[in-house]
Amino acid sequence: MRIKLNVTGIVQGVGFRPFIYRIAVHNKLTGFVRNRGDAGVEVLLEGEESNIRKFTQDLTSKKPPLSQIENLNKTELSGKNKYKNFTIYQSSQETEISGSIIPPDIAICNQCLKELRDPKNPRYEYFFITCTDCGPRFTIIERLPYDRENTTMREFPICGFCQKEYVDPINRRFHAQTVACPTCGPKAYLTTNKGEPIESKDPVRLAGKLLSEGKILAVKGYGGFHLAASTILEEPLFRLRKTKHRTEKPFAIMAKDLNSAKTFAEMSFKEQELLTSSARPIVLLNKNPRYNLSYLVAPHLHNIGVMLPYTGLHYMLFDQVPDSSFVMTSANPANQPIVKDNKAALEILSETVDYFLFHNRKIAYRCDDSVMRLNNDRPVFLRRSRGYAPVPIRLKRKSTRFVVGLGGELNNTSCLLFDDKAFISQHIGDVENIETRNFLQEATTHLQRLTNCHPDFVACDLHPKFNTTHLAEEMAEAEDLDLIRVQHHHAHAAALMAEHGLDEVVAVTCDGYGYGSDGRAWGGEILHCTLESADFTRIGHLEPQPLLGGDLASRYPLRIAAGMLQKAGLNIKKWLLQNSEHLPHGEAEAKLILEQLKSGKSSIETTSCGRVLDAVAAILGVCHERTYEGEPAIKLESTALSGTDVLQLKPRIHGTVLDTSNMLEAIYSSLGRVSTSNLAYSAHSYLAKGLAALAIKGANRKSIKNVGFSGGAACNQIFIQLMRETVEAAGLQFFVHESVPAGDGGVSFGQAVVASFSDF
Ligand SMILES: [Zn+2]
Ligand SMILES: [Zn+2]
Ligand SMILES: [Zn+2]
Repeated sequence: MRIKLNVTGIVQGVGFRPFIYRIAVHNKLTGFVRNRGDAGVEVLLEGEESNIRKFTQDLTSKKPPLSQIENLNKTELSGKNKYKNFTIYQSSQETEISGSIIPPDIAICNQCLKELRDPKNPRYEYFFITCTDCGPRFTIIERLPYDRENTTMREFPICGFCQKEYVDPINRRFHAQTVACPTCGPKAYLTTNKGEPIESKDPVRLAGKLLSEGKILAVKGYGGFHLAASTILEEPLFRLRKTKHRTEKPFAIMAKDLNSAKTFAEMSFKEQELLTSSARPIVLLNKNPRYNLSYLVAPHLHNIGVMLPYTGLHYMLFDQVPDSSFVMTSANPANQPIVKDNKAALEILSETVDYFLFHNRKIAYRCDDSVMRLNNDRPVFLRRSRGYAPVPIRLKRKSTRFVVGLGGELNNTSCLLFDDKAFISQHIGDVENIETRNFLQEATTHLQRLTNCHPDFVACDLHPKFNTTHLAEEMAEAEDLDLIRVQHHHAHAAALMAEHGLDEVVAVTCDGYGYGSDGRAWGGEILHCTLESADFTRIGHLEPQPLLGGDLASRYPLRIAAGMLQKAGLNIKKWLLQNSEHLPHGEAEAKLILEQLKSGKSSIETTSCGRVLDAVAAILGVCHERTYEGEPAIKLESTALSGTDVLQLKPRIHGTVLDTSNMLEAIYSSLGRVSTSNLAYSAHSYLAKGLAALAIKGANRKSIKNVGFSGGAACNQIFIQLMRETVEAAGLQFFVHESVPAGDGGVSFGQAVVASFSDF
């Protein structure tokens, strides 16, 4: 019998062909296996029918841990048997849209880690030890199929020793494209911040010692450079904050191992599982009572972003130092993508760091670390990138269109959607300048190349001036694509529907800003959406509040608070003057604000939930300057976590609008009488219950059973919990994101969903 199998899914770069070889030989079959140019695998088998049956059983039951079989296409061939044995062939260039994809980067596996530590192993202490079960993939692949010459490993011709393993079918490195050793593989080296080489037989461990002594290093990893420093010494942290202009933004850290992380952070079993998973994301963990790291690591927050080492190099940094952890924050200049090339690193980072720990393998595509937190053991993505991209999100429904979504502006990603798969790109960042725009374009083109998908539709935001909107317009023009504009909060709601396979939802979508369909600033919206409709109904929102001073207002929350409190009918003169030290121009600015308020000159209004949280943060003195995205809201949540709902305010709803003035007034008038954390919690409770009540009202009126919560605020633990309780108590089902970012990293996906499934 002769058959041909086409296997699709994640089948390249995960040891799939060697596996096929082994089970074919084991079942006495002849023929061949080869990678296809579309990331799929083709197998030809000759032999007894019963053996072929056993082979297909083994194929699904024994497949390599990192592989995913999406589809198995079997055709019987005519003609006589031709093959005497089973061979792994050169890859074919044949391509079709198979929906296959190469895997994400995978953390070092336990076997490689053991070999790294074994003095008798030829790869003892080799910092880039990998095998078919681990190592970089997404960040080194330039084109398909996944063969060494199509990756940045091309520049390291394989040595005799590695070659022997590469061709040995029973070896773990049989056809491992990243196989390398100290003789033939990439080399690590240390330089000064001017790029002058520092002689060392052991540059990685020397780098670890320098970190421990208080030096700042740029460390090149898989997807880009990290800025690394001690987590205990104040001097380097202070210096790093100063040169990076990051006064308050928390730094992610890398802990030596789980036990080291436990000395300063609390973690549940699920959190430990996530930390040690092959994706190795940064996980937000609560600081424990014994927290002993510098306050400069994550100032004024109850939690800290922790990841574990994911390459041999990371492990070795800790070998000869007593440190439990190092700061490992993405090396990206303000508003720029993460630095990935050695030359660029020297140009951009030499003022910031004391030393560079380089290696000489190129990074084909940059990829930031992923950031997650767990909420009641359920995952919440703050950033979905390394370890996850480009694995597709599987949809319950198939699309016949080929769509690309380019996202919004902040925390952006792009997304390709076809059939029942959505491929979300790695984290791109804030697309506010040419560099991030170029990165978005490159990443999107690369994703198209990897999936073999050429879109017919391009989806973007409704905002006429976003860079992503301009890019979509240019693509539509140049490639003759249909352009679909999707309202920001509609995209959030659509993302939620598609993730959970819902046809209809009443979605609470809360964030900082989204361009409304009336051109106004939205951000606390309740929308009714169906998957079929390109339109939506806005069935509720937060009270429009003034945004005093436009952009300045979102930087200095005191302005927002002043505008909102004045609107609530309070006399704030004394309070504002008392707090004027928190405004950049002090008393003079406070007086100007008061005059502006008195004149009643109309300022811009917003229904943003984020801005209400900003106001509460300023009134409570929790945050007076937003130095990073979402800072006042993040700090307010941190403060609220130790509080309770002492004010017990009943949501005041006028028609479809949730009043926020009365809540702000209540907070303001309780200052000094009630603790800050209790007031912070009471504000959360008011908003969560009020928004849920509006959503329940809308859902009941339309007889809809599904209520969801999306947008950046849907990462907030207190909001999720209180909203869930309220919605479920009303007998409705409650949905939040688990596999797609709730914030703007999920907008490209939502846009693609609208363009894929709705009638327009
Ligand atoms: Zn391995
Ligand atoms: Zn070698
Ligand atoms: Zn948003």
